[in-house]
Amino acid sequence: MNKNDQLENIARTIGRCRECKKGKSGKAVPGEGNADADIVFLGEAPGRNEAASGRPFIGRSGKLLRGMIRESGFTEEDVYITSPVKYLPDRGTPTKKDIRHGRMHLAKQLAVIEPKIIVLLGATAVYAMFEKVLPVMKEHGKIVEKDGCRYLITIHPAAVLRFPKYAPIMEEDFRKLKKLIAS
Ligand code: URA
Repeated sequence: MNKNDQLENIARTIGRCRECKKGKSGKAVPGEGNADADIVFLGEAPGRNEAASGRPFIGRSGKLLRGMIRESGFTEEDVYITSPVKYLPDRGTPTKKDIRHGRMHLAKQLAVIEPKIIVLLGATAVYAMFEKVLPVMKEHGKIVEKDGCRYLITIHPAAVLRFPKYAPIMEEDFRKLKKLIAS
């Protein structure tokens, strides 16, 4: 089975997953992009726009993220964009339990895609991959190697929308990403 079909199967499983839907609403948002991507961008959980459409990062945070992806010389078709939590949490912020459950689906997606670099957009993404609560403002820009994959820690685009003075942090980290992928 090719990678696209495998991701389709995982998306169907997410669409039927009762545990995923607990305390959440809207359409499933499994992720989108290149099934053979070198780079995966990992967020937190879908927002309202995403839950209405089933597509990741299409609201204000998404416009910012997608703009930065393009400015770094990639296209959205080159990369894969997803979040560890696959449905909109009723309380906005996912719980640790939500994240630990969602990453089971995420791990299957990553096993298919086999990316070289995973960009961790904020603390939820870091928790999903390392089960650690890290201060991302302090740790941003760090590259962690684990099981043959590199992880770049940065902040979530929603943080930049809330505090525009954080924009240079994300821009600096994306410049690092560009260098990493070129090396
Ligand atoms: N924020 C996320 O973390 N993921 C989305 O899909 C949308 C907004």
